[in-house]
Amino acid sequence: MKKIVIASNNAGKLAEISRLLAPLGIEVVTQASLGVTEADEPHMTFVENALAKARHASLATGLPALADDSGICVRALKGEPGVFSARFAGEPRSDERNNRKLIEALYGQPDRNAYYYCVIVLLRHGQDPQPVIVEDTWHGEIIAEPAGQGGFGYDPHFLLPGLGKTAAELSMEDKNKISHRGKALARLVQVLTGNGKAPA
Ligand code: IMP
Repeated sequence: MKKIVIASNNAGKLAEISRLLAPLGIEVVTQASLGVTEADEPHMTFVENALAKARHASLATGLPALADDSGICVRALKGEPGVFSARFAGEPRSDERNNRKLIEALYGQPDRNAYYYCVIVLLRHGQDPQPVIVEDTWHGEIIAEPAGQGGFGYDPHFLLPGLGKTAAELSMEDKNKISHRGKALARLVQVLTGNGKAPA
């Protein structure tokens, strides 16, 4: 496997994935650079959405495809916003409105537990019956007052009690070491290098 298409146009994700896969001799290109449109994400689970995105990119390009899907799950909201994290407050997508809706939904709620979740799917080809699937989580608490300028999405309200900081107060490098996406990507690298729970 030499070239992989990534079913995302997020420059940050591309840079992070390229950095991790380059030592394995794998070049990563975005689907947009190959003229592929974004796939729909109509499903109720992260893994189904990631599979749909990867399959769409692989079928359109004939290349192996990698897709991730992620979001934040809040215990007191029975896992919401979940797969709707990006558009929790509707379209057009807005981090500010999403955060406001989340804080309002948790007003007066003592249980502030939440976790970020990320699943990554790698299809070797469009009809691959046995995709590589890795996942991980990142646990924290939702706080009403935002703190920090880094990160994106819900990060300013996502407190890491052990560190006494929000995700938005971490450097990108530190966040990538402990985040849901960073840890899932590390698992992917382990599988691709044969050090993980590799499928036959
Ligand atoms: P997607 O997987 O790129 O579609 O991201 C889904 C949504 O989950 C994002 O738009 C954010 O609202 C939220 N999200 C996922 N990962 C993070 C993160 O690391 N920080 C903050 N928000 C995140």
